[in-house]
Parts: sequence; C-alpha cells; structure tokens
Amino acid sequence: MNIADIPAVHRALKRAYKAVRAPVIDLVAAQTHDPFRVLVGTILSARTKDQTTAGACERLFAKVRTPGDLRRISLANLEKLIFPVGFYHTKAKHLKALPDVLDEKFGGVIPDTVEALCELPGVGRKTANLVVALGFDKDGICVDVHVHRISNRLGLLKTRTPLETEMELRRILPRRFWKTWNSYLVAFGQTRCFPRRPLCETCPLLRWCDTGRRN
Ligand code: SF4
Repeated sequence: MNIADIPAVHRALKRAYKAVRAPVIDLVAAQTHDPFRVLVGTILSARTKDQTTAGACERLFAKVRTPGDLRRISLANLEKLIFPVGFYHTKAKHLKALPDVLDEKFGGVIPDTVEALCELPGVGRKTANLVVALGFDKDGICVDVHVHRISNRLGLLKTRTPLETEMELRRILPRRFWKTWNSYLVAFGQTRCFPRRPLCETCPLLRWCDTGRRN
C-alpha cells in the first residue's frame, strides 16, 4: 500500500473493528476514562490473552482504584488477584513499586508523556504510548506485535523492530490516525491477520495489501 491509501485503509479497519470484540484495554479506557486503570490494565496485558487480562482487571479494580490502594494491599494479595496473567510475580512487584515512584518523581500524579511514563516500573514505550492515547486521549502510537506485523505486511513500511515501526509511523501516519491505529490493528490481528495463516482471501484490506496480493 502507499501512504495515499492510509485514509481508505483506516476506514476499512474501522469497519472491521466495529464488527468484532474490542481489545480489553480499549474497554477499560471506554468504561473508566481513568489513566490509572488504563496504565495498570496495560501492564497486566503484556504477554497475556485478553480474556485473562479482563478477569484480572475485574478482580483487581474491585479492590484497587488508586495508587494509594496499591500501597495498602499486600504483595501476596496482589499476586492472588492478578493470577494467572503472564509474569504475575514480576508485574505484582512493579505495581507495588508504582505509588512510591509516582510520589518521588511526579508528585503522585500519573504523567501524560511517553518519556515520563517510561520512568515508571514495568512501563516501556508500548505501554506508555497506549496510556497516552487511551488514558489521556492524546496522540500516541502504541506498536505491539500486531501493529508491527500488519503495518509491514500491508507494505506501509519496512522495519525490523517495533521501535523502528513506531518511529516510522510517527513520520508517515497523519496524526488523526495515531490513537486508533493500535486498537484497529490489534483487533484485526486477533481476528483475521494472524501471525500464521492470515485470512487473506476474504480480507477487506486485500486490494491495498502487498502481502495479500503476493499470496
Ligand atoms: Fe493481513 Fe492478508 Fe489482510 Fe494483508 S490481505 S492485511 S496479510 S489478512
């Protein structure tokens, strides 16, 4: 696909997104409009299926709604609430450390920039961008495996790593598409453009997709 195709591809992705279940962090953002919950939910979601993350978020947010709640809850209880998300030991430790780091560096307030968010425990660029976009409704481009894979398959860019993809998307993607690019491609990657055996034959992006047309 070419850069000029972006608006049409975005429209097709939007239609596809509306037809499937939204990724879990989209739901957390839509239901709560709360940067704290988007941040915590995104940390929990790494290397974890959406369904598992959704269950852990429900149990955790019934008891923990603020950084202060995180400080009060014991590490053992925290682990119990978020189990069985991937790497739950490590994630629980990161969450326990979060209130102190927020106090020390940001006056107890969750920051709204990628660079500042990356200073929080367990937060990398992927999480930080998602919190900026979904938690604060500001421009961020979260590049996970789906966004990296599908952006390359489409032929929109040629990159080797998610970081390269993020930087390239920041360069070529019009800002009005930044916030939704992740949500749409994650949903698309979970339901059609699978890592192995993507469903190209009936894909609504086929006419623009370099890989689909080659296949
Ligand atoms: Fe993915 Fe195939 Fe659709 Fe291209 S045509 S976006 S490779 S499913």
